[in-house]
Amino acid sequence: MYTAESTVRAAQPVGNHSYEEFKELTREFHGCAAPGLLIGGYMVEKARARLPEGTLFEVFVETAKCLPDAVQLLTLCTYGNGRIRLAETGRFALALYDKYTGQGWRVFIDPLKLRQWPEIETWLLKKKSKQEQDSDRLLEEIGLAGEELFGIQSVGISERFLEKSSSGPIAPCPGCGEPYTAVDGPICRGCLGQTPY
Ligand SMILES: [Zn+2]
Repeated sequence: MYTAESTVRAAQPVGNHSYEEFKELTREFHGCAAPGLLIGGYMVEKARARLPEGTLFEVFVETAKCLPDAVQLLTLCTYGNGRIRLAETGRFALALYDKYTGQGWRVFIDPLKLRQWPEIETWLLKKKSKQEQDSDRLLEEIGLAGEELFGIQSVGISERFLEKSSSGPIAPCPGCGEPYTAVDGPICRGCLGQTPY
């Protein structure tokens, strides 16, 4: 017999955090509980759970949207310490891997599983404008889906991506006088006009 109880399901924890706690963390860090950041939190934890305990890992994110912040909130990998790297593919996916061997796990949105969560699908595929979306329902679905939204695959990072590239010698720029990475050429890239100002 159908009972309401059998359908009750709680929001899944994000690693050691309850979903509510994690939402609060995202508000403090990111300014709001962005859907991509919440989903990203589950992605990080799904990949991390597969790595052997104590593995020193680094991360590739395949989009700069939200995912880097999920990594920075939940791990010691940051853009600043070089342990998050971006390999833009346009896909909402990330990989955590052993810094030394390059062996790790890639977590991605599984299109079949996505279909079971209409509000998430609507958001991700931009089927409706932001104003038309039901954002409460969206956040609820994200918590209920938790790590079930994803596929996971074993990956090995290519050798050339494991080596840390040195920025080489630093020299004063003849144009502006500021120290710059001399491999860029006889004057700095700023003096070549490549500034955002
Ligand atoms: Zn210069």
